Amino acid sequence: MPTANSEVLSSGSVAATTMQAAVYKGSSVVEVDTVPVPEIGAGEILIRVETCGICPTDLKKIAYNLLPGPRIFGHETAGVVAEVGTGVTRYKPGDRVIVFHHIPCGQCFYCKRKLYAQCPVYKRVGVTAGYEPAGGGFAQYVRAMDWIVERGVEKIPPGVSFDQACFVEPVNTCLKGIKQIDPQPDDVVAILGQGPVGLIFTMIVARDGATVLATDTMPGRREFACRFGAEEAFDPRQGGLEKAAMQRTEGRGVDVVIVAASAPGIVEQAVRCSRPGARILLFAQTSHQERIEVSGASICMEERTLCGAYSASVDLQKESAELVFSRALPVEDLISHRYPLSQIHEGIERALHPADGSLKIVVQPQR
Ligand SMILES: [Zn+2]
Ligand SMILES: [Zn+2]
Repeated sequence: MPTANSEVLSSGSVAATTMQAAVYKGSSVVEVDTVPVPEIGAGEILIRVETCGICPTDLKKIAYNLLPGPRIFGHETAGVVAEVGTGVTRYKPGDRVIVFHHIPCGQCFYCKRKLYAQCPVYKRVGVTAGYEPAGGGFAQYVRAMDWIVERGVEKIPPGVSFDQACFVEPVNTCLKGIKQIDPQPDDVVAILGQGPVGLIFTMIVARDGATVLATDTMPGRREFACRFGAEEAFDPRQGGLEKAAMQRTEGRGVDVVIVAASAPGIVEQAVRCSRPGARILLFAQTSHQERIEVSGASICMEERTLCGAYSASVDLQKESAELVFSRALPVEDLISHRYPLSQIHEGIERALHPADGSLKIVVQPQR
């Protein structure tokens, strides 16, 4: 079994014309198939995928059949440049890279206002393993299109594993949320939900000096939260958070809340444990069906700010890469399971039904 660090130098052309890929067929069905290796054009690169994280947003699209098949998901991709198209000078075969699948145009109404995730070009997926572009990381090779090669690829420094590197995209999305609520070192921050994303929030916020109070229903995840810098972690069903929040703030409530899980009543809990004027970030409320009920006065009279953040920011690409590549954030420790493509079903099942002992799940398509 090759290690996550195995460095295989490419000759610059891929001998194989077919590869293995986990193809989403529609109706929540994923099948591992033999498909053509994508062909690249001018300005594009082909990347041999070494590690790709399984992300809840992909799982949601599969479980709820939100997009028609066939398509190949997977967007937390780290690998090796296998081929470069004409005109590509910044990358060469053998370079170890991570790739962002969404990159904004930089020119439009939304880009001018730094709302990159709303940019029409950003919404177009620029990395594919075939079919309708959808990230493609659950395959052995992906093709990065020209506007992605221009601004959406970062080289992985020597000594950093592909497993560590595949976290650059999720760390970027967390960092983007954190910039919105801007926790200060003397703030008390409640982080609700300590799955892989909640734990990344905990790592970053605690590292910047704020006091973190975490919640999760799973004891193992609460333990991780404390290991990664949370002051205390609570079972949200037992009321400990509200009590600790008041105790630590002279009865005011926490200054900032990050809602990193979706559960009935969780935003209401964020309001309840926070002080007037608190900033509350909704990070996991991605369903149009989800309803939130808070009193108008808790926002208006008590002057709380509710904000949302979704997906990555190109402005934070270097900073997120640096946080991951420097190992300032021990994100690789979040990986609980690694699967070859042939066992991706097990990985998806496990990710869909989180249990204590499972955290971040990655696919290693070259195994
Ligand atoms: Zn993701
Ligand atoms: Zn734009």
